[in-house]
Amino acid sequence: MADRTASRALQQRLSAIVDALGAENVGADEKELWLEPKGGSGLQIRLGGDVHGRRYDRSANFAISYAGNEPISPAFRHALDRIKVMDDSPIDGAADAFATAAKAVADRFVTTAPVAAAKVERANVPGLDTVVVVGGGTAGYFAALALKREFPDVDVTLIESSKIPVIGVGEATTTLMPPFLHVQLGLDIVELYRDVRPTWKMGIKFDWGLPGDYYFNYPFGNGNPVEAYAHDGHINDQSLCSLMMSADRAPIVLDDDGEPVSLLEHMPYAYHLENESFVAHLAKCARRAGIRHLDAEIETVVPTADRESVDRLILDDGRELRADLYVDASGFRALLIEKALGSSFISYASSLFCDTAVVAEVPRRGPIQPYTTAQTMDAGWCWRIPVEDEDHRGYVFSSAHLTVDEARDEMRAKNPDMGDTWTVRFRSGRHEEFWKGNTVAVGNAYGFVEPLESTALHMVVAEMRVLIRCLRSAADGRCDRAFANESVGSHWDYLRWFLGMHYRFNRKSDSDFWRTCRDTVDVSGIEPMLERFRREGPVMEGGISPQDIPDPVFNYHGVVTMLLGQQVPCPRPTRTWLSKAAWDARVAESRKLMGRALDQAQALDLLRQRPEMLASLIGPNSKSWIVCRSAQAEYVKVPGFWAHGGKGDEAPTSEAPAPRESKEEVVPYSHLLDSVAPPLDVG
Ligand SMILES: Cc1cc2nc3c(=O)[nH]c(=O)nc-3n(C[C@H](O)[C@H](O)[C@H](O)COP(=O)(O)OP(=O)(O)OC[C@H]3O[C@@H](n4cnc5c(N)ncnc54)[C@H](O)[C@@H]3O)c2cc1C
Repeated sequence: MADRTASRALQQRLSAIVDALGAENVGADEKELWLEPKGGSGLQIRLGGDVHGRRYDRSANFAISYAGNEPISPAFRHALDRIKVMDDSPIDGAADAFATAAKAVADRFVTTAPVAAAKVERANVPGLDTVVVVGGGTAGYFAALALKREFPDVDVTLIESSKIPVIGVGEATTTLMPPFLHVQLGLDIVELYRDVRPTWKMGIKFDWGLPGDYYFNYPFGNGNPVEAYAHDGHINDQSLCSLMMSADRAPIVLDDDGEPVSLLEHMPYAYHLENESFVAHLAKCARRAGIRHLDAEIETVVPTADRESVDRLILDDGRELRADLYVDASGFRALLIEKALGSSFISYASSLFCDTAVVAEVPRRGPIQPYTTAQTMDAGWCWRIPVEDEDHRGYVFSSAHLTVDEARDEMRAKNPDMGDTWTVRFRSGRHEEFWKGNTVAVGNAYGFVEPLESTALHMVVAEMRVLIRCLRSAADGRCDRAFANESVGSHWDYLRWFLGMHYRFNRKSDSDFWRTCRDTVDVSGIEPMLERFRREGPVMEGGISPQDIPDPVFNYHGVVTMLLGQQVPCPRPTRTWLSKAAWDARVAESRKLMGRALDQAQALDLLRQRPEMLASLIGPNSKSWIVCRSAQAEYVKVPGFWAHGGKGDEAPTSEAPAPRESKEEVVPYSHLLDSVAPPLDVG
């Protein structure tokens, strides 16, 4: 049996070599670890036993050889030089430990089996042989990858112009993202962490206009805002996730033996993604999936005579492209849906006054926060998105109330060490049609609202689900564009009202902008729900018309969290599911567990060393929320119908619920992860 310490030490040594060489195609067997250094033109280096004739060098702990032709190539010499300057002190028991250490390093590069690739019978869609996606931003790549995976026989081409850069912002996501990436698109989780280095977002922290250091958390997952409010008068202890946010902890805890226990499987989270590396990663996955890529500018979109469809695209080099289905992912330009097909724009300006953002990077002081922060400013608000190396910040404001220079000055006063800024202008609203003739519009081309709840990529996921569902039903002759337009349009409209609520009830009163928001922001689309909240308080069970809430993440829990967090006056709940003593005990136990949680940097480092912990989240036997909840995440609003979450008929009690039946599998800390009150819906 290999000595564990020797194995760890050797593993670190081998890992350091792999990283220093930027290696790809890493693998291992009992005797050797092999790897291909980046830029080595296929050179394969082998570290391990003296199993090959061609042993060129030796470290204190293993032989170094290579597979390739004589004479030794400059690439090999270069790689050898880099290995030889690294720590080469002898490790006791290295020979015995080699197999275990090499396997652990190679596991980092394991490509996980695609998850449940064929839950749904892949159908041919009559008349759908070719798709052209216009745009190589996140929306374009999401669309191309999703369509290719769903309809592998369809020929998908993505066209973008390197002369027209992608928007370059868009980095905080929601809990729809991990299931979309790893289940629906089947993207390898270990590879994503290696290429893009996402950080975890467990929710949003709102530093939202009330005086002093008051803030409130909007955590993902099973929150208990009403229970927390009833017992504590505030909502920040509403769930383990929220407590972890307040303490800057990540969902990996150490057990009594100091061994890490991952809660990632059970606690819904989202990603913070650096836009450029994310798009580059998606482009790589698209190449691998067989999606054709064209770098060219579309000069003209030619519509049919009735302007109901696109006839063809004319490129700047004179080529012409035709397709059965066009996806407009051209960003704010909306080249196809608006410019060519004339779909009108429905403005949200009476609810959302902001139209400009000043964006910058800021060096981080302190831990990588596991959440996005939204903080009120004089004429808008500022985001903080922590990625591994720095924080990204952006001031979203109303140009009717502030100039870009004034915004930059205000931001710099709060972030003296921030880097260069750039400015993005936008308009809030959506187009009349999501799907017109042979064209659908996704991402910024269809609609946009400011990133206060990170809804842009969230909506691309939702849009793709509607599109795929409709295309699937086209296979048996049903393809209802009117349904798709109603479903996507009303979903966007709900976000308008939901975000409007963040302004209407904000209590910041020291600026003209916020006073105007409080007096005039239009929230008429959800007024009945707000009125009921003011009258009856945050009632979580029964009575709410779920039709008012077409979003699986920003559901009634979200509405209640935003209203209670902003301290909108309402009657205090008279009934609770837990007694005060049971609630306090639960919060105390959660805090104790948090004392054992790693911070995000430690947790991400751990996963780099133990990628099998990541891979198991979406592996074939996974029961993680990412895999199991994907079906629920596939929810689309069907006008006139809503499926309830299930447990809605249970009655509140003043005591803790009875212990659950023994389960086949023990979920660590499940009593702290579950909601104490029945969920109203998914999310
Ligand atoms: C200030 C701000 C902050 C944001 N923050 C977030 C956030 O935190 N979370 C989130 O989810 N979203 C956020 N978003 C939204 C997010 O940036 C986008 O929704 C997302 O990146 C998708 O963009 P896109 O692919 O639709 O467009 P783009 O990235 O703009 O891509 C457009 C593509 O179209 C191509 N194109 C355009 N015209 C032509 C032409 N004539 N010929 C050929 N190609 C063409 C371009 O080359 C480009 O590839 C934010 C947006 C803004 C403005």
